[in-house]
Amino acid sequence: MNIRDSEAISALLAAAGHSEAGSLDDADIVLLNTCSVRDSAERKVEGYLWKLRSWKEERKGRILCIVGCMAQSAGGSLLEKFPHLDIVAGTSAISRLPELISNVSPGSGRFSDTDEGPLPYDDISTHVSSGGVSAFIPVTRGCSMNCSYCIVPQVRGGEKSRPAEEIIEEARSLVDRGVVEIFLLGQNVAAYGLDRTAGKNESSPFAALLAKIAEIKAVKRIRFTSPHPASFNDALINAVCEIRKVCDSIHLPLQSGSDRILTAMGRRYSSSEYMEIVAKLKAGRPGISFSTDVIVGFPGETDDDFNDTRRILNDVGFDQEFIFKYSKRKNTPAAEMDGQIPLKTKEERNKILLDDLKTRILARNRSMIGSEMEILIDADSPRSNNRLIGKSSSNKTVVVEKKAGIAVGSFATAVIEDATLAALYGRLK
Ligand code: SF4
Repeated sequence: MNIRDSEAISALLAAAGHSEAGSLDDADIVLLNTCSVRDSAERKVEGYLWKLRSWKEERKGRILCIVGCMAQSAGGSLLEKFPHLDIVAGTSAISRLPELISNVSPGSGRFSDTDEGPLPYDDISTHVSSGGVSAFIPVTRGCSMNCSYCIVPQVRGGEKSRPAEEIIEEARSLVDRGVVEIFLLGQNVAAYGLDRTAGKNESSPFAALLAKIAEIKAVKRIRFTSPHPASFNDALINAVCEIRKVCDSIHLPLQSGSDRILTAMGRRYSSSEYMEIVAKLKAGRPGISFSTDVIVGFPGETDDDFNDTRRILNDVGFDQEFIFKYSKRKNTPAAEMDGQIPLKTKEERNKILLDDLKTRILARNRSMIGSEMEILIDADSPRSNNRLIGKSSSNKTVVVEKKAGIAVGSFATAVIEDATLAALYGRLK
């Protein structure tokens, strides 16, 4: 989501007459687009803001700006804490950035704009990415799930869906510019449209949206993230199984395998309900791969709870896991819960899951040696002029030697000859 917001900011500033600087030294304006999901991310931004003090003081007229979730959450207090900061722009202020920047008169004007106001959907649709074979399209903003550890509903508000026609129009304009893979984004994409249909959870406006996008001939692949398991109903499961343009790779955040912890997290599903979704998808779409998010060390997590999580991760056999050590977020119920877990325990649990994951991925990747897979070439290799990088439908990175007639944007078949933890290595057929 933040990458897509950064694309939007770049496009807005370009339209206002600014251009991208080649380096920090050349820059007149620096914008930090921030996330506040984890405490460590905020600490990094604060550290970087202090480092930018000398950059700001080196040349008169430079403008320093912080945007996004951290700006929304901390607001004007950031101006007090960082005297060299000029603009604090919250999550709804993106479309007002050119105006805010032009209003800053060095030494006299500093602004904090965290007004919620109407969400800038009209502006988002004009903020298309600058090119490439894949492009992000936000379908919702905000989130209404209110997980007990999460700050997103506070900083981005409740879920609001974009009109389907607007999303489809954006997809059409992207394919006209060479995009073949559409990545639909939202905090809970599976609930897309339910805010517009009085919460009729048995239907799936998101499934209908997938079908509409798949009808666009030039769209070859569709991916999406993240669907909340509580909103992943049978209508959506059927759509994923039936629409072949939807990739063989689903990101399904688990967070914990312990029902006790899931309840404390406010996640609204049990481990068996989660496994039911996985089983239905595996049955309806053989070969599908899964990735997930997991939190270790949530308040009150016992060894038994952790072992429940570990068991489910191994049972599903995820191809990728984003493992986070629980960190307190201000004004969330979990921050006040008893049973906060020591950092050392979180680190030990984190390491156990990472070791499991590495072992599993390496074995899985090696098992693919000798197989053939269709890949979409999405980049030249940054390490070798003779190589290209592609992605399989199951989201495996595949490195191949160049071949005449195959370039970025091509689909090709790779024969896998070698495998590491990070990638598969193949020969183009
Ligand atoms: S689903 Fe839960 S964790 Fe995800 S953004 Fe919404 S509140 Fe946060």
